[in-house]
Amino acid sequence: MKGKLLIIGFGPGSFQHITERAREAIQESDIIIGYKTYVELIEGLLTTQEIISTGMTEEVSRAQEAVRQAEQGKKVAVISSGDAGVYGMAGLVYEVLIEKGWKKDTGVEVEVIPGISAINSCASLLGAPIMHDACTISLSDHLTPWSLIEKRITAAAEADFVIALYNPKSGRRTRQIEEAQTILLKYRSPETPVGLVKSAYRDRQTVVMTNLIDMLDHEIGMLTTVIIGNSSTFLYDGLMITPRGYQRKYTLNQTVQPLRPHQRLQKEAEPWALEQRDDVKPLKNRTVTAISVKESPRELAEEALQMIVGENQGVSQDLMVKQDIQSIFELAVSPGVANKKFTAKQMMTLSEIVGEEGVMEYTQDHYIKLQILTSNPNEIVEKLAAASFLVAPVGDVLTVKACDFCDGEKKDSIPYVEELQERLGGMELPKELKLGVNGCGMACYGAVKEDIGIVYRKGGFDLFLGAKTAGRSAHPGQIVAEGITPDQIVGVVERIVQEYKQKAYPNERFYKFFKRVKQVQGFVHQDITPKIKIEAAACGE
Ligand code: SAH
Repeated sequence: MKGKLLIIGFGPGSFQHITERAREAIQESDIIIGYKTYVELIEGLLTTQEIISTGMTEEVSRAQEAVRQAEQGKKVAVISSGDAGVYGMAGLVYEVLIEKGWKKDTGVEVEVIPGISAINSCASLLGAPIMHDACTISLSDHLTPWSLIEKRITAAAEADFVIALYNPKSGRRTRQIEEAQTILLKYRSPETPVGLVKSAYRDRQTVVMTNLIDMLDHEIGMLTTVIIGNSSTFLYDGLMITPRGYQRKYTLNQTVQPLRPHQRLQKEAEPWALEQRDDVKPLKNRTVTAISVKESPRELAEEALQMIVGENQGVSQDLMVKQDIQSIFELAVSPGVANKKFTAKQMMTLSEIVGEEGVMEYTQDHYIKLQILTSNPNEIVEKLAAASFLVAPVGDVLTVKACDFCDGEKKDSIPYVEELQERLGGMELPKELKLGVNGCGMACYGAVKEDIGIVYRKGGFDLFLGAKTAGRSAHPGQIVAEGITPDQIVGVVERIVQEYKQKAYPNERFYKFFKRVKQVQGFVHQDITPKIKIEAAACGE
C-alpha cells in the first residue's frame, strides 16, 4: 500500500477558519506531524491519529520524518498554520522528496491543502489593506541572507506595494524590523498606515493601528504580522483601507476627490493607461493636492513651499513618496460671475495652459471646463488667477450662473451675486446645484430654470425653488417669495443651501429634495408638476 502526504494549511488558528478539506484530511490521516503549538491548536479535531510534534526550528527533520512515514505506506498529515505553501511546510516536503528522486506519477501521493494565510486573516481584521498589489516578505534571516531581504524590502517600498511582513521579530531577532522601518521610511511617508496583528483568530488576538514612524513603539513578536500600507492607504474609523485604484484626479478645494464607480471605469479617468498615450513612461504615483480657489498666487506659492517643507501633513505625505505621475486636473474657468467677456490675452493664456493634449469644453454652465494632464495643478491655478480668471471646481458643487447685468449697466444687484459666489461658489454638495441670478425682471438668462433662482426686481429679490432643469418633464422653479430685501437675500440663499447640504440624500437633486421634504427654510413646496399626457407617435409603428 502506497502512503500519502497531506500537506495542510489550517488557517490562522480558529476552527471556523479551517477549510472543510483540511478537516477531512486531518481525519483521514494516520499520523499528524507538526510544530507543537500548531498541533495543540488543532487538538480538538484529532481522534486516533498518532502525533509527532517537534520544535519550531526542526522543520527539516519534520519534513524528512513525514516522507519516511509516507514511504512506509502511512497517510501523513503535515500541518502548517495559515497556508502550508506560504513560509510553511509544502516546499520543504517537496525538497526532501526531490532529493530522494521522487516523481509525481510513481512516488507517494502528495496533496497540498490550501489555508488562509496570515496576510489574509490579518488583513480582514484591519479592514481592507491589501486591495492593491501587495507582497509578503519574511524578515527571518534564518534561511535567507539579510542582504537579499533588504533588497526585497527596498524594491517593494519603491514600487509602492502594500507589504505584509511575516516573522517580523523574535526574542533573538530584534534588529530586522528596525532595519526594515529605516528602509521603508526612505520611500514612504512616516504617516503611512501600519497594522499590527498578533495571533489573528486565536485567543490572544490583538490588533493595533499605527503608522510607519511609530510602529516600533508597539509590541511586535513572533506571532505578529505587520501590514504596511501603500501611498494611498488611509485610515477610516479605526480601519485601514487601500483604495482599489489610485486617485486619478486633482481637484480644487478638496484634498481627495473620490471618483464614483462609474467615473472610475471611464477611460478618460485613466490618463496613464497604455491605450491612451504614445509617450508612456513607467507609472509612478500620483499627488493629490488641496488647492484653494480664493488664494492669491503669492499665497498659493507659499502654500506650495509649506508642502515641500512638510508642514501640511495631508499633502506632505504625498510629496514624501518620491513618485510623481500626472493626473487629470479638472476645473471651471470664466471671466467672472457677471462678466461674460473674454479678453484676447485670456484666450491666449487658456491655449497655452491647455496645450495640445488638454481639453477645453464649452459648457452650458457659463464656464469653460478644462481637463489638463499635469503634475503641478498649483502652477495652473496661478497662471489662471494672474489672467484674472474666475477659477472654480466642477462636480457636485454649487455653481453660480448669473446674467451679464446688461453689460454691467443694471449693476445694483452685482455685489450680492459676488457675495453669493464668494460664500457658496464651489461648495461641495450631495449633487451639483446651479444657482441662477438675474439682474432684472426680464430674467433673460433663465434664472428661474435653475435649481435655485433669484431675480432682482424693484429693489428686491424674487426667489424660485426646485426647477427641474432637464428631462421631458422639465419645469421652472416655483416662486416662493417676492421682494426679499438685498440685505437678507444672501443669508436666505445660504440657509437653503445649507439645509440641502445637511439633509439631502447623496445624489439627490435639489428639486427632488424640495419635493420630498416639502418645506425648506419655511418655503413650502407645492405639487404643481403638470401631468403630461404623451400622445402616440403620429408616424405609427
Ligand atoms: N504559513 C503561515 C506563515 C508562517 S510564518 C501563513 O501562511 O500564515 C510565521 C509568521 O506568520 C508569523 O511570524 C506571523 O508573522 C505570521 N502569522 C501566522 N499566523 C498568524 C496569526 N494567526 N496572526 C498573525 N500572524 C500570523
